[in-house]
Amino acid sequence: MTKSNPSVLIVGSMAFDDLELPTESARDVIGGSATYAALATCLFAPVRVVAVVGTDFPESAVTALSDRGVDTSGIERAEGKTFRWAGRYAKNLASRTTLDTQLNVFADFRPKLPESYRSSDFLLLGNIHPSLQLEVLDNVPNPRFVAADTMNFWIERERPLLVELLRRIDSLVINDEELRELGEDHNIRRAAARVRALGPKRLIVKRGEYGAMLFDDHGIFFAPAYPLEEEIDPTGAGDTFAGALVGFLAQQTEIDDSSVRRGLMVAATVASFCVEGVGTQRVATLTRADVAARLDTLRTLVHFGG
Ligand code: AMP
Repeated sequence: MTKSNPSVLIVGSMAFDDLELPTESARDVIGGSATYAALATCLFAPVRVVAVVGTDFPESAVTALSDRGVDTSGIERAEGKTFRWAGRYAKNLASRTTLDTQLNVFADFRPKLPESYRSSDFLLLGNIHPSLQLEVLDNVPNPRFVAADTMNFWIERERPLLVELLRRIDSLVINDEELRELGEDHNIRRAAARVRALGPKRLIVKRGEYGAMLFDDHGIFFAPAYPLEEEIDPTGAGDTFAGALVGFLAQQTEIDDSSVRRGLMVAATVASFCVEGVGTQRVATLTRADVAARLDTLRTLVHFGG
């Protein structure tokens, strides 16, 4: 029997980001995969977060999540500094270089799940060390749906653990660059086939301004990105996409080829808002009505009649 209001459990990073954007530089921006994902998921479903922050992390940033209905009791405050990431974007925002990654409190983090979190139905294993993603998975006995994200940092350093993770998830959500690296092939279709052969039933590939693609047993599906008039900061758009997708699916009676395809369109819409502000600025104030209005426009973009 499925529950009427299933909860999504998100594990991921909470971070200070230093961003070098074409339009401005911003330091100590509150970010992290879990932060962005939770802000997107909470638009659709109840959500709880497992993450770690240091003593330097402002309480107001945790309150910003709980004010949106996110259950923050699984966020641990550890002695030491919060995870820190620094990146520089190219002028066209299409690529970025990681300038610095400081694991800090993440280096010794062991996820502690409040007892109530163990019955979570939907799991989003956000970008974080794959051993921590596996540990969370071990502690949730019966999830209905598990999605995971990762990034080059972990593909290069922890491939065997990632391969173990891939055997145990329903969907992998990564960007095209990560797919090429993980699938060891420059061609997206061939790389996708290789990655799917490692386990995940569905592979979702985020392609920035070129939208997102789904590879599953029913074939290939494409969701366009909403063409924005103003692009400010793409940081976290991928996490926002994944969070929205899992939140949307948690609301559906069936997770099948059709609901996942609809989920991709919704996720692409939510992620587009993320790019319109620095850090979580825009996603933190987003409403379902904003999403619905933009989704209508996105629908017209792909409608060609007949
Ligand atoms: P995205 O732009 O969707 O890839 O997400 C960017 C977010 O991921 C930033 O807020 C970073 O703090 C976070 N991040 C960057 N590198 C890592 C890493 N190695 N592990 C976990 N989170 C990371």
